[in-house]
Amino acid sequence: MKRVSILGATGSIGCQTVELIAAAPERFEVVAMTGGRNVALLAEQARALKAQVAVTCHEACRDELAERLSGTGIEVAAGDAAIAEAAARPADWVMSAIVGAAGLLPGLAAIRQGATLALANKETMVAAGPLVLAEAQRHGATLLPVDSEHSAVFQALVGEERAAVERVILTASGGAFRDWPLERLAQATPEQAATHPNWSMGQRITVDSASMFNKALEVIEAKELFGLKPDQVEVVVHPESLVHALVGFNDGALMAHMGAPDMRHAIGYALNWPERRALPVERLDLARLGSLTFRAPEAARYPALGLARRVMEEGGLAGAAFNAAKEAALDAFLERRLGFMAMAPVVEQVLDTMSRDGLLRVDTPGLDAVLGADAEARSRAARAAATQA
Ligand code: NDP
Ligand code: MG
Repeated sequence: MKRVSILGATGSIGCQTVELIAAAPERFEVVAMTGGRNVALLAEQARALKAQVAVTCHEACRDELAERLSGTGIEVAAGDAAIAEAAARPADWVMSAIVGAAGLLPGLAAIRQGATLALANKETMVAAGPLVLAEAQRHGATLLPVDSEHSAVFQALVGEERAAVERVILTASGGAFRDWPLERLAQATPEQAATHPNWSMGQRITVDSASMFNKALEVIEAKELFGLKPDQVEVVVHPESLVHALVGFNDGALMAHMGAPDMRHAIGYALNWPERRALPVERLDLARLGSLTFRAPEAARYPALGLARRVMEEGGLAGAAFNAAKEAALDAFLERRLGFMAMAPVVEQVLDTMSRDGLLRVDTPGLDAVLGADAEARSRAARAAATQA
């Protein structure tokens, strides 16, 4: 029996993880499950999987969760500290699927107990990549990427010499506004941005796909996870979302990973690793698909990609500041305080001023420095958004 915990169980990735675990109850023992406001779903999931403990990050939701689980013997807890404590309970495999920088501390707690961490939460590597890798090494924890592109790269690298890798190419669908005229983008609404041509995902990552802030985070995530130089990570627009990533080797070979746009593949690969097992994912019919298309991303449409390059060159705390400023700009956009195309200038302004003030240049940032840069970037972004709007 594999002991598993699911952080962010009530979200898009979390629900798909629950589905795969529920399909093989004889193989898994569920330790902790966490969620946020969706207490009804968390209680239902915890009952179905017979979890030891269910935790909501909101103190105000504790009583409702306790009521829904009364008589089941399932422990109940609430608050951010309780989430990190749940992540620290001994488990073999932990899914990190909380959205945003809130996933960092629980993910670290799981790493520190030596669990294998299935990492959907890309913000963890963007904000604190070197720190996370060092902690994983110190505690003998394994990191398995769940982001589809990174899972694809990971799979293409099996059995390969790292020194032979020349480059990694991440594909991007181009998001909701791929084919919109550029001049219309400034007026795009949160509802329009929250529809994705190929993938079904949480609201925040879907909007980040339209702006390509998601791809910007993924470029940084790939650099950190696979130990690449900034110019070894490329992005290509691939509207069909069937090739998830490619790895280019020094002999000119490109290994591509293809599959249906269904996160259950990457989640299931991480859940079953190092084995492969059958998964309920559509099998592609290439003859019916006919063709695949690729094109370069336009810099004017996707300014976030340029910011990612800058963050990688700057290093230090730039990733933590970038992610936090992006989260604050996204909040402002979702609350209609900021236009769609005003998000990147807000993030750029935060990077500019924090760099000018010498707040990003730290050689090996510790956790306090990362959390400090995150908080500073959030407050600067909120101020910048108020003046840009
Ligand atoms: P969702 O918004 O669907 O789910 C987020 C989960 O985190 C929910 O369980 C939510 O609880 C919980 N949560 C929200 N805020 C907090 C908080 N402050 N503290 C603790 N828990 C919280 O997100 P996704 O599933 O789409 O994404 C999760 C992560 O996976 C993100 O980092 C995303 O970038 C990454 N990812 C997602 C993909 C996808 O297909 N969705 C693909 C690749 C990566 P509740 O809903 O109950 O309030
Ligand atoms: Mg992805």
